[in-house]
Amino acid sequence: MVYVAGSGGRGTNVATGTRTWGIELQTLLGELAEAQGSPDRILRPADVTPLARDLDARVSLLRSVVTRRDRLLEERRRLEASIHGYGRALELLEATDQVDAGPVERSLRSRVHELRRRLVELADDIAPMQRRVERLEVEVESLRGRIVTELRHAVEAARVNRLATRTHARGLVERSRTDPIDLEVLWSPVPVTGYRAWNIRHDGLYGARRRWLRPTLTAGCREGLDVPHVDGRCAEVAFGCGIYAAKSVPRLLADFDIDGDTRVAVGRVDLEGRVVEHDHGYRAQQATVRALAVVDRDVVRFAADEERIRGLFIDPREAPLLAAQVGRLPLPTRELRRLIDDLIREPADGYARRLSGEPGPA
Ligand SMILES: [Zn+2]
Repeated sequence: MVYVAGSGGRGTNVATGTRTWGIELQTLLGELAEAQGSPDRILRPADVTPLARDLDARVSLLRSVVTRRDRLLEERRRLEASIHGYGRALELLEATDQVDAGPVERSLRSRVHELRRRLVELADDIAPMQRRVERLEVEVESLRGRIVTELRHAVEAARVNRLATRTHARGLVERSRTDPIDLEVLWSPVPVTGYRAWNIRHDGLYGARRRWLRPTLTAGCREGLDVPHVDGRCAEVAFGCGIYAAKSVPRLLADFDIDGDTRVAVGRVDLEGRVVEHDHGYRAQQATVRALAVVDRDVVRFAADEERIRGLFIDPREAPLLAAQVGRLPLPTRELRRLIDDLIREPADGYARRLSGEPGPA
């Protein structure tokens, strides 16, 4: 086995990896700050994931083990040089064939013997040390990979969060020029249609404020009954309470980049109970998801039946395959927006039937 110390061999690869990783890390941290709406904020990896601390600990351990290994390798180089030197001296001694060479030769041979024994010991010390370095290098690489993955998810989640709160943001702008008195409050036996987005996390789908445990959510407000309120009593952010929904998919998804890393669920909701209409969206007392397009990185799925949608909200990992897989990414953002719009805008039954090739209603 050949060991390469210090800056040579594997060390170079790790250093190169460190540079590449550092650049990717900085890029992602920048994207995250921007997605969180504060592009000037300096984020550190530890602000985003506890894995960053694990990585720091691993890297410093790796450094110290490498230092110890390199010290042993240096000692081995010196030993080998000495043995080589003594070997040369012995050869010379034999060549000159001196009469009284015996004691010197014996002394040299015993010295060489001693050095060789130390060399064997060193090999026993170096081998486990080297294995440890290699193990730590693998751990460091793996941690770096996981940190990058977590950061990518954080960037994506932050982007989707902005999407989910878009109607709030718009509300904030509109509020300054819309007198609450002018708001139209609908009481309709027929649900009003709206569109929303959710973050996909490992345990479920999250709206702007909370996880949705089922496809139906009823809004509450600490300011009392008659949610959503229209008198501004709870409107320190946007218009106040209620479940927000946009009026159309294009309006919901405008300016939102969807690419191969995107994880977002976009759905059509029936808004019921008291529904307040705003310029670009609604606030409702209750919303029920009726169709759901799930964009999970490189796959787009679609569900429009109650049971499958419910399964996804309960546990996205355990959920049955969501109806038809309708497309493989990456599609250009524009096409993807159109696809989502097509999927959830129309009466879902009709679209699902067309997907599966069944004849539509007469
Ligand atoms: Zn309220």
